[in-house]
Amino acid sequence: MKKTVGFIGWRGMVGSVLLNRILKKKDFLNFNFIFFSTSQFSFKNPEFNRFNSNKILKDANNLDELFELDIILTCQGSDYTNKIYYKLRNSGWSGYWIDASSDLRMKIDSVIVLDPINKKNIIQSIDRGIKTFIGGNCTVSLMMLALGGLFRNDLIEWISFSTYQAASGGGSGYILELLKQIKFLNKYLSKDDNLSKSILDIEKKITKITQKNSFPIKNSLVPLILNLIPWIDLDMSSGQSKEEWKMEAETNKILSLKDNKKILIDGTCVRIGSLRCHSQSFLIKLKKNIDISNIEDIISSDNKWVKIIKNNKNDSIKKLTPLSVTGTLNIPIGRIRKLSLGNNYISAFSIGDQLLWGAAEPLRRMLKFLI
Ligand code: NAP
Repeated sequence: MKKTVGFIGWRGMVGSVLLNRILKKKDFLNFNFIFFSTSQFSFKNPEFNRFNSNKILKDANNLDELFELDIILTCQGSDYTNKIYYKLRNSGWSGYWIDASSDLRMKIDSVIVLDPINKKNIIQSIDRGIKTFIGGNCTVSLMMLALGGLFRNDLIEWISFSTYQAASGGGSGYILELLKQIKFLNKYLSKDDNLSKSILDIEKKITKITQKNSFPIKNSLVPLILNLIPWIDLDMSSGQSKEEWKMEAETNKILSLKDNKKILIDGTCVRIGSLRCHSQSFLIKLKKNIDISNIEDIISSDNKWVKIIKNNKNDSIKKLTPLSVTGTLNIPIGRIRKLSLGNNYISAFSIGDQLLWGAAEPLRRMLKFLI
């Protein structure tokens, strides 16, 4: 009999990308889907025809409705997870919980899913009766797919990273705000678009516009357009942001590495004004001296999505950019070279669509493991 999946958070950035993937791959044929919403329940379900599902959206906070489900697939966010997950489990619900948000990732009885890297662990965990499967942090999943060959062959001593994370990584509110910031600037600039003025005068004027009290910064707190923000997520009170902390913690959990074997990973996470796709620059200390062509072979043979980009200007500026990757499952990695620091030190630069491999795709594939 087909299992029934309750889909919560399908209107958001991650949820709508996941919905399209499920439709494209025809996964919906394998399950009965029921659509929920925290804000639009009792409205008509706009997905009804495409999924042949419930005509009216159900209330995502109704525990009795949720209790009936075999699987809950949520892309709603941490607040929802914290509010509902424990109540449901405490009431005896023993279904599968699949989640895009971060809160349950480090729990002892949950598995972070990224099957090109940890499929064996996922399958064994299902067999062991584990019922909570969580998508990894977007930059973690994208890094692991890009460097999968180096992880698998135990070649990494440590990694230092800098990230360049897109506005859409902050959710639909964040991206709408970036668009409002663009509109706001455009409104003021179009009143006086005499671009023949001194360029410094124009620069001063634009900067002043971003400092106006009415400039839209409710989500980003400071302007994101024409700017960058070197802090993502909570303050861990250790000098690290939570986004930075996740890189080492989640990677080692996905690799099932014990503390004495763990790979050290640390760096700085930065929000930039690109629309979609997260980029990352890596400084990697390898455990041994390997020549670049071998490193490229090891990386490119690990999974079918990672693509080596030749380390030259033309390929880098055309094939290693958010705009060249957006909407695809490709994980290009380039700028691979030895550093002057020593033979075991390499650099690399990688990009991936954080809504696909960074969020929706591992969840969709997890669902399929439960058929
Ligand atoms: P989001 O776009 O903000 O959507 C979350 C929910 O907000 C929606 O499901 C919807 O729920 C509600 N919502 C309110 N106004 C909306 C609007 N105008 N358009 C769409 N939805 C609206 O959040 P998200 O980026 O998808 O993230 C969901 C979870 O995934 C978070 O925990 C996040 O940390 C995680 N995640 C995100 C990314 C990413 O790149 N964005 C990557 C990895 C993981 P109702 O229908 O119930 O109102």
